[in-house]
Amino acid sequence: MYLKRLDLQGFKSFPEKVKLEFNPGITAVVGPNGSGKSNVSDAVRWVLGEQRAKSLRGDKMEDVIFAGTENRKPQGFADVTIVIDNQDGKLPIDYTEVQVTRRVFRSGESEYRINGAACRLKDIQELFMDTGVGREGYSIIGQGRIDEILNAKGEERRRIFEEATGIVKYKTRKNEAVAKLEKEQQNLTRVEDIISELE
Ligand code: ATP
Repeated sequence: MYLKRLDLQGFKSFPEKVKLEFNPGITAVVGPNGSGKSNVSDAVRWVLGEQRAKSLRGDKMEDVIFAGTENRKPQGFADVTIVIDNQDGKLPIDYTEVQVTRRVFRSGESEYRINGAACRLKDIQELFMDTGVGREGYSIIGQGRIDEILNAKGEERRRIFEEATGIVKYKTRKNEAVAKLEKEQQNLTRVEDIISELE
């Protein structure tokens, strides 16, 4: 699995449609300060489901939309598509190439797509769970992240190892099942109350 292409439109400093092609091996993005290098990695994290505006270096999610300049009008939406080569089948989906798209409008409305089909954010998060590529994945190491990991408390560091060993998926499903069980238990208690009132 590797990152093949990134398409950006209206995202941060990229008002026009831009296609960035990547080949297997090492790719370096170089440019002067403030030219948008970090915005490229922000786009990758955003399309993979990042929901915290702060970790995308903004105050609110709208800040990912091109805000305009002296000579250029602001954009009405930001759209990012990531294209991943999945010939090795590491992503649990029956496609050798996987395209994930996220679009957000100024109104706050969001759209998510996997290979062109509308989906939920949850579907994208589940697709990348335990692959190391998700928004919490260890495949994106931001500035200061190494220090953060070294200084992290045991619990936080454990989460990184859990993602690497591939058990996050099962833990998430277990938590969902426990929450459902608790809800059912409450329903049961209510039914028992009603029955005892009728008796
Ligand atoms: P450095 O080398 O200093 O780390 P960089 O190349 O990583 O810089 P970025 O931080 O990616 O640069 O980009 C910063 C630029 O992106 C700034 O000029 C900022 O004005 C612009 N920018 C960020 N968000 C938006 C937005 N919503 N609309 C327009 N421009 C934006």
